[in-house]
Amino acid sequence: MDLLDTLTAKGLRGEIPTREEALAVLATTDDELLDVVAAAGRVRRQWFGRRVKLNYLVNLKSGLCPEDCSYCSQRLGSKAEILKYTWLKPDQAAEAAKAGVAGGAKRVCLVASGRGPTDRDIDRVADTISAIKDADPAVEICACLGLLSDNQAERLKAAGADAYNHNLNTSEGTYGDITTTHTYADRVDTVQKAHGAGLSACSGLIAGMGESDGDLVDVVFALRELGSDSVPVNFLIPFEGTPLAKEWNLTPQRCLRILAMVRFVCPDVEVRIAGGREVHLRSLQPLGLHVANSIFLGDYLTSEGQAGQADLDMIKDAGFEVEGAGEATLPRHRADIAAAAEGGACGTGGGCGPCGGHGAPAVEETGADAEAGVDAGAEPGVTDDGSRSDLVRVRRRGAGTELAPNA
Ligand code: SF4
Repeated sequence: MDLLDTLTAKGLRGEIPTREEALAVLATTDDELLDVVAAAGRVRRQWFGRRVKLNYLVNLKSGLCPEDCSYCSQRLGSKAEILKYTWLKPDQAAEAAKAGVAGGAKRVCLVASGRGPTDRDIDRVADTISAIKDADPAVEICACLGLLSDNQAERLKAAGADAYNHNLNTSEGTYGDITTTHTYADRVDTVQKAHGAGLSACSGLIAGMGESDGDLVDVVFALRELGSDSVPVNFLIPFEGTPLAKEWNLTPQRCLRILAMVRFVCPDVEVRIAGGREVHLRSLQPLGLHVANSIFLGDYLTSEGQAGQADLDMIKDAGFEVEGAGEATLPRHRADIAAAAEGGACGTGGGCGPCGGHGAPAVEETGADAEAGVDAGAEPGVTDDGSRSDLVRVRRRGAGTELAPNA
């Protein structure tokens, strides 16, 4: 297939495809799917070998957000039965992080709901970073606290943060359809602030919100242009109680095509399968590892992932290996770019995002199906209103609970 030969050759050279080539990846058929995965896999192995980077989410503050991001279970007016709690204390957050690191994670992502941090919040996060790094200086810390004000990125950098996550989520053209309380430009500005302060920029997208192929390509090219070092690819978790609860429009095959398109546009960048991996890729998750080089270990912010041990088993069974703390994630030339950025070069964009997260519930596990209104005569797990209680499970363990985390 000429398209895949061209994309592979460009990817091996670190070149970016044309917009038309990226769109063509999304238009490939199921008959072509394994060829698409194999081509993207060659590019992945060129820059990242068979390594899989594990990241671990710690939700420092859950729910109660004044913003209205329609995909988010923590949004203003959300009826999702997620865990709601205010800031974890530094020792609580460090304890949660320790579980993820013990499970093999080399990066801990400290996330807080909200429009953006106050200066007092930056102090709290700085104390949390110290608590984690005092225990293990090799742990990478990524903060995800929403829109940043002037000098906050610099303060996080000085506190020991390595990266900042703020997702663009969708194209500039459709951003106003998913959120009205802030703008696409606000998100770009925060990623640029983070990058300008010398933090590695982590910024990604959410697929499955009703966007077009053109929107997906637009946001990935925007992420590439911003210089994001890592690109989390979230697949919408349609949470009951949010405006997008009925948006079940992804298939495992579609998810693989999206991941492959992101890999071709960002050949030498960390591509992370983020939220929705289990829900949407399902039994094809191992194929995703041939394209992406990074995943989250265990649970997400407000939803449960598969068991951490199942993640580790999947990586091993598929012939990949967990990236060690002493191994560089990015190819040398990109690491050099990051080092140059610390001198004050270009920026990337992002913002507070679900990072695959949705919240933990206060409902009894045994009553979940009844709570979700499962129709006894319907397909198992499918409710009479089309929701999928069998696929979406709110997080009930780990940070903010008395139960052990999943790692
Ligand atoms: S994505 Fe972030 S800013 Fe938007 S509603 Fe959720 S927690 Fe709030």
